Amino acid sequence: MQVSDSPVNAAKCLCAKCPSFAGLPGFYCARGRARGKVICAGCKCRECAVFNENSLTDEYYCDHGEEGVEAVLKSVRKQKAEWEAGAATDETPAPADPEKKG
Ligand code: SF4
Ligand code: SF4
Repeated sequence: MQVSDSPVNAAKCLCAKCPSFAGLPGFYCARGRARGKVICAGCKCRECAVFNENSLTDEYYCDHGEEGVEAVLKSVRKQKAEWEAGAATDETPAPADPEKKG
């Protein structure tokens, strides 16, 4: 669900009190990922009213953006499947494996 970037929702956001907070734009589930590098040190999203009111299921929106990490992984998996099905040309490098660590 798209979270409304409203003043009421923004006032409920716990990001500014979070150890992972990485500055603007804040209220990341509605406004997208942080402009700076995120050091993931805990996430308060699941304690937040906006999280429950909007049936959110993800965390670390500061790092992954408003679409959430699952949407990012889904997109990469789709690209990988298309490449494996021969949709890409031989010159196209294989997409990164989202399940591979490191
Ligand atoms: S999205 Fe989660 S991890 Fe990132 S600053 Fe907000 S509460 Fe913290
Ligand atoms: S769910 Fe996370 S990013 Fe969204 S308003 Fe709450 S603390 Fe902020």
